[in-house]
Amino acid sequence: MAKKMKTNFDYDMAVIGAGASGLAAALTAACMAPELSVAVFEKKETEGKKLSAAGNGRCNLSNIRCEHLEEVMDFFGKAGIAVRKDEEGRLYPYSEEAGEVTSLLTAGAESRGVKIHLNSEITGMEALPEGGFLLFACGKKSEPGAETVRARTVLIAAGGKSYASMGTTGDGYVMARKLGHDVTGLVPALTAVEVSEDITALKGARVKAEACLYRNGEMIFSERGEVQFRADSLSGICIMNMSRYIRRGADYRIGLNITADFSRAELETILRNKLSLKGLSAAEALKTLVRHQLAFTVLKQAGIEPDEEGLSILADAGRLEKLADALTCMKFKVKGLKGWNEAQVTAGGVKLSQVDHMTMESKLVPGLFFSGEVLDYDGPCGGYNLHHAWLTGIRAGKGMALKCTESIR
Ligand SMILES: Cc1cc2nc3c(=O)[nH]c(=O)nc-3n(C[C@H](O)[C@H](O)[C@H](O)COP(=O)(O)OP(=O)(O)OC[C@H]3O[C@@H](n4cnc5c(N)ncnc54)[C@H](O)[C@@H]3O)c2cc1C
Repeated sequence: MAKKMKTNFDYDMAVIGAGASGLAAALTAACMAPELSVAVFEKKETEGKKLSAAGNGRCNLSNIRCEHLEEVMDFFGKAGIAVRKDEEGRLYPYSEEAGEVTSLLTAGAESRGVKIHLNSEITGMEALPEGGFLLFACGKKSEPGAETVRARTVLIAAGGKSYASMGTTGDGYVMARKLGHDVTGLVPALTAVEVSEDITALKGARVKAEACLYRNGEMIFSERGEVQFRADSLSGICIMNMSRYIRRGADYRIGLNITADFSRAELETILRNKLSLKGLSAAEALKTLVRHQLAFTVLKQAGIEPDEEGLSILADAGRLEKLADALTCMKFKVKGLKGWNEAQVTAGGVKLSQVDHMTMESKLVPGLFFSGEVLDYDGPCGGYNLHHAWLTGIRAGKGMALKCTESIR
């Protein structure tokens, strides 16, 4: 390991948060400038709690559709992260073990001299008039002197404010604001959507559907996928992606097309055939087309009694149409979003126009950098959020290393 230079600072680079972007930044900086000192301050007892839980423990690292994929893949290669791609283009660690990504990055950073302080919450920060920063750290009692830290450059990689139990309580936004940055409205995103209807009878049901979102009557989002019914809300990847488009102050409705594989004409033919089977009730006729649990809700929306004979429905063409409408647009009124405890990411954050996208340095405070979820970016499910954390972390690591090297010269 290269010998670290002696300076007036405790560290040349201080990273707040040992999550995906903080670890990527620290490792990149340490590789680029081994003569400089890098420290990471993590408030939790272990690194990368969210990273280790990502993708249900499999860690959906990135996606082949992400921009600047080559920069991130190059980093994975250098960090030793072996990758596999699934049929949808989502990228995972080859072992599909999220925790291994965290431990590999941690070991890589430490072996290059990065000092990781666990149980060390940064509670505040000041920009020093002569350059550099003073950090206030709430360290372990066993580490005297950890109360204030002088750093030449600082990276705020403290994540968002969802899943507070994993350390992300929105501290980065507070620090950014105190140093003069604008933080756009913070909203829980990638979360389940609460509906006004009583759907307790549907709890546990799963259905493949095209899920559409209507704002004030106009369709603004649609995606196919599996919808999961909970006691008071809808979930599943397509619903979580939908949640990114729901804001306060408008009337939102969800329409589920649960027979999306058929054209309208095909569906009406299927219904006509089924309802004309002699002696079958409407609920019985829907069997094999619609899950039993859902059939009653569909019939209710179509104004049909479950035990009404199918043939009598056919007698009135308008009623067949209503049934087809209910199957192609099962309606729910949006009541709200599940909150911060369930949201996978935070929408909103430090205004992107106040940060240089290549170095991640603040345009307002020289020497201050931002990466990851603290920035005003949120992507859909599928690896986009971690990709953003890696990309901005790598760029911040390079940016900090260059800044320090220039200021020492
Ligand atoms: C359950 C779940 C599953 C997810 N799965 C995926 C997935 O498969 N694919 C995907 O792309 N995205 C996924 N995400 C989102 C993704 O994990 C985050 O977007 C990403 O981790 C953000 O990286 P980050 O470095 O900005 O912040 P984080 O990884 O959240 O790290 C921030 C770190 O900063 C620390 N910290 C905060 N404040 C302070 C402070 N004051 N002092 C010191 N340390 C502090 C925190 O303890 C934390 O360790 C998932 C999220 C959740 C909650």
